Amino acid sequence: MYKSIVIGTGPSGLTAAIYLARANLKPLVIEGLEPGGQLTTTTEVENFPGFPQGIMGPELMDNMRKQAERFGAEFRSGWVEEVDFSKRPFSVKVTGQEDALQAETVIISTGASARYLGIPGEQDNVGRGVSTCATCDGFFFRGKKIIVVGGGDSAMEEASFLTRFASEVTLVHRRDELRASKIMQDRARENEKVKWALNRTPLEVVTDDKGVKGLKVRNNESGQEELIEANGVFVAIGHTPNTKFLGGQIKTDDHGYIVVKPGTTETNVPGVFACGDVQDTKYRQAITAAGSGCMAAMDCEKFLEGAMVHDWSETLDQ
Ligand code: NAP
Repeated sequence: MYKSIVIGTGPSGLTAAIYLARANLKPLVIEGLEPGGQLTTTTEVENFPGFPQGIMGPELMDNMRKQAERFGAEFRSGWVEEVDFSKRPFSVKVTGQEDALQAETVIISTGASARYLGIPGEQDNVGRGVSTCATCDGFFFRGKKIIVVGGGDSAMEEASFLTRFASEVTLVHRRDELRASKIMQDRARENEKVKWALNRTPLEVVTDDKGVKGLKVRNNESGQEELIEANGVFVAIGHTPNTKFLGGQIKTDDHGYIVVKPGTTETNVPGVFACGDVQDTKYRQAITAAGSGCMAAMDCEKFLEGAMVHDWSETLDQ
């Protein structure tokens, strides 16, 4: 039996693992299908303190993993199918393993996954012209036309990044106002290769015998349908928290984000903690995720020492 199992290996899970391992609690860390989390699909991270020249996302995550290993964290690959938090010790069932793992405490740091538009032609062409990861797939579109869908920081970042490869990047957004921060908007606007197709609702990814041909959109001003031609469509419309495997045992909000007691990482089940994007609807930054991972490890230690008073009344009243 483990003192603590950490589910997920983004900045929050790995920071929790570093702190737990350093406190000699020998955590087991479960890596899912996307080891390292969203940062492994990012290019340069410029705002993580300590790297004045920036650092590539995958390198940052690799460093964090090595740091956790150095202090004795154990890693296992697998997909957590289900958990049982109704009795102690807690059980965590990982795919391909007959016996469920057992732990006194669990830290949930499963992050959030890229969302898709849900339009015809999209899923059939994932990996064949449709992508949610500019870093992974931008290279395949050298000298070609690309569309990025979305109006947030991710869309601005991907559009700017993809101009390194593409001859032209058209940013398609369903409203005429962007959600992205000013600095990210300005950066994309200053880039001559970025064209703008605002107030357009995506309707269909259109293909021909050579692959993706473009995106059919509705011009919300005129009501007319238009085809924006491109060889690749990058969908950058946000993320969904990975909480399905919890089977409703942990309190979540209407969008599936875990609810924690304000100012802590405590969930509604004593001994189960949540950190990172899976419980963060507001900040969602690598550094805030890492900070909450540290909090989760410290909350976990306190719980294991028997020093935690679990009082959820204020949270449940909200
Ligand atoms: P986001 O801020 O939630 O933006 C998602 C965008 O996609 C919105 O513009 C939204 O349109 C659009 N959208 C959502 N569903 C859609 C649909 N079905 N069809 C068409 N468009 C749709 O997500 P994000 O850009 O991934 O950013 C998430 C968080 O990470 C933010 O806090 C952001 O600041 C942060 N982030 C920071 C950086 C950075 O600082 N380097 C980089 C990336 C992300 P509406 O605007 O109409 O709702």
